[in-house]
Amino acid sequence: MDLFSSTKLDLEEHITDLNLPKFRAKQLLDWVYKKGITDTKKMTNLPHSLQESTLGIVILPLKEKLIQRSKDLTQKAVLELSDGELIETVYIPEQNRATVCFSTQVGCAMGCEFCATGKSGFSRNLSAGEIVGQLYYWKHTKKLSVTNAVAMGQGEPLANFENFKKAIDIINDPDCFGLGARHLTVSTCGIVPKIRALKEAPWQINLSVSLHAPTDELRSQIMPINNKFPLKELIEVIEEYIEATNRRVTFEYTVVPGFNDGKENAKFLIELLRGLLCHVNVIAVNPIEGKGENAFSAEQFAKLISRDLNVTLRRSRGSDIDAACGQLKRKVIE
Ligand code: SF4
Repeated sequence: MDLFSSTKLDLEEHITDLNLPKFRAKQLLDWVYKKGITDTKKMTNLPHSLQESTLGIVILPLKEKLIQRSKDLTQKAVLELSDGELIETVYIPEQNRATVCFSTQVGCAMGCEFCATGKSGFSRNLSAGEIVGQLYYWKHTKKLSVTNAVAMGQGEPLANFENFKKAIDIINDPDCFGLGARHLTVSTCGIVPKIRALKEAPWQINLSVSLHAPTDELRSQIMPINNKFPLKELIEVIEEYIEATNRRVTFEYTVVPGFNDGKENAKFLIELLRGLLCHVNVIAVNPIEGKGENAFSAEQFAKLISRDLNVTLRRSRGSDIDAACGQLKRKVIE
């Protein structure tokens, strides 16, 4: 059994099947998650049987293949999975918090136009342990503080729903990784039935939706998922989600000058989101050298919608490293 894929209950069942007392599970979890020790020989309060042979319990931290550090202190790592597949994870330190962006799939089948991962196609889902392992890597292998985590790396988290849910169970459990649900966010391109299922989960994490366009006509051009679940259905399920959870939903809107900016799109966006308990993150694309006008346009757009909607202007972090999702992994492969 893979420890990072195991809830406390899974581990307790395994331990009691071995005729060991249940509290050994908690001791083992404390060594791994509280002390950052994965070598059972160093777990001095465990009985010999558990120290010498792990009795079918595998504890395998993910292997670092490459890491890049940005001037703004953002770090991005490529990690290797047991079958040789590669994934990316990002660490973003800020004044009062430090956020890990983690992947949920190897590649992605959603095919968003603007995304390097989407262009490389889909290989496989990550296990719950491979998801938890990314947070473990930053906290215990790199010995950094982790206060928040966002499912916003490679892959669509809600397309790997069962493993994602199990990973959140483990990340959220105070006896395991121990991050509170309010510090966890899932970012989705908008898989409507899974958003509906998410509101039934025992924990209530933050929901962020990649919107990037205010009309079906525009959104379908860059996000194929919009053909399956158009904006009307997406907004309806978000209304249900807000009603059930009373949580504010975030919409991500990357301003691409000449495509989704301007007064008319601002008006459409206000009409679409009016009355929703929501926040809009307007994101400026990293200015290409000598083309700083991109950033200005995002600022103008944020101003246009700010009288009617809650809005924050954001800039992508780590602009001096291969920050776009999928870029760094490609570098390792090449
Ligand atoms: S943006 Fe997200 S959902 Fe879209 S292709 Fe990229 S990884 Fe997949």
